[in-house]
Amino acid sequence: MSTLSVAQSPTALDVERLRGDFPILSQRVRNKPLVYLDNGATAQKPQSVIDALADYYATENANIHRGVHYLSQQATFAYERTRGRIRRFLNAADNSEIIFVRGTTEGINLVAQSFARPRLREGDEILISHMEHHSNIVPWQMVCAERGAQLRVIPVDEAGELILEEYEKLLTPRTRLVAITHASNVLGTINPVARIAALAHQQGVPVLVDGAQGIPHLPVDLRELGCDFYVFSGHKLFGPTGVGVLYGCRELLESMPPWQGGGSMIQKVSFEGTTYADLPNRFEAGTPHIAGAIGLEAAIDYLNEAGRERLAAYETELLDYATQALSQVKGLRLFGTAGEKVGVLSFAMEAAHPHDIGTVLDSEGIAIRAGHHCAQPLMQRYGVPAMARASLAFYNTREEIDALAAALCKVNEVFA
Ligand SMILES: *Cc1c(COP(=O)(O)O)cnc(C)c1O
Repeated sequence: MSTLSVAQSPTALDVERLRGDFPILSQRVRNKPLVYLDNGATAQKPQSVIDALADYYATENANIHRGVHYLSQQATFAYERTRGRIRRFLNAADNSEIIFVRGTTEGINLVAQSFARPRLREGDEILISHMEHHSNIVPWQMVCAERGAQLRVIPVDEAGELILEEYEKLLTPRTRLVAITHASNVLGTINPVARIAALAHQQGVPVLVDGAQGIPHLPVDLRELGCDFYVFSGHKLFGPTGVGVLYGCRELLESMPPWQGGGSMIQKVSFEGTTYADLPNRFEAGTPHIAGAIGLEAAIDYLNEAGRERLAAYETELLDYATQALSQVKGLRLFGTAGEKVGVLSFAMEAAHPHDIGTVLDSEGIAIRAGHHCAQPLMQRYGVPAMARASLAFYNTREEIDALAAALCKVNEVFA
């Protein structure tokens, strides 16, 4: 592939070199070069992440926090070092505020069950938005139903931006928590999280941010965002599946009872009663995904080395290029045209259903997602049952966008 467009770009990211770090990207699929544009579902892994997993199992594998033996000490050291790396990556204050979980979904459920559930009374409200992923809807619905509380929804305008005046009206003395996505997995909208958090805090309301789509695209500084909880998944951040992070500010985490009980989360157990471990172990019952955490550390090292600001600038440029390219496809409707967006392009076409679009693209070796994107209320908002979605990462190229646009023109021909 030509590096011409990269050389012309002011951010001068050496994309071809970065692509070389991701073995899967050099594959052929359906006898065509793979064009992977489903990064919003899961991102590909650099060799360093794959090596970190393999090295851990080959040389360090042991259970943590339990053994006096050498390997167990090594594994514990690596696992805890990762916690510190994540704290710095997020600019959080303390390692004890970093809780390892399975992913975004588990992190949100932990906060719903341990933070919200004991606090909710009849008539209380939890505030979410119309653009949330099911993971940031259903856990709140479950606790609200149990406690007689209500879910309130901040509306989204046609461009895909939150209507902040409505948000301010919805913030009332009944509000117990605001749970909002950093960036929409469907519309790409980057929400003004710092502003949202500041407004909530004026009323003494804590804020949870679903960072699943924010952190893969944007440098995250928790002290700038000012939220109380921030949750993300390793696998969307170029790390392994099965590991994720819940950040919680110490004061709130300390006020929360354990969620799951078992090994590692205790101080002392007897049949008369049990005392619990301090943070963060109190929320990490059972053997965690040790290799996953170590793989996530490798992913974070990779991103830091490549330069997060540079990656984000390149992606913004590629998003602009892709937006231009897709707007030239006949009969294509783009959803989500917010001023501040991450690299997500959801669309529908007059000629074909999103699933048929996906199938034609697949035959060209192009991977996109088609469906409701775990955001059925948002589909209803736009009056469509499904959308097609191309989601970008820093290893995507203009040539790949050209291939996507060409394949979409082919969709028009096939279904003409
Ligand atoms: C993917 C995603 C989730 C859920 O992440 P899991 O890794 O499946 O737990 C939640 N919110 C958003 C915005 C997502 O994109």
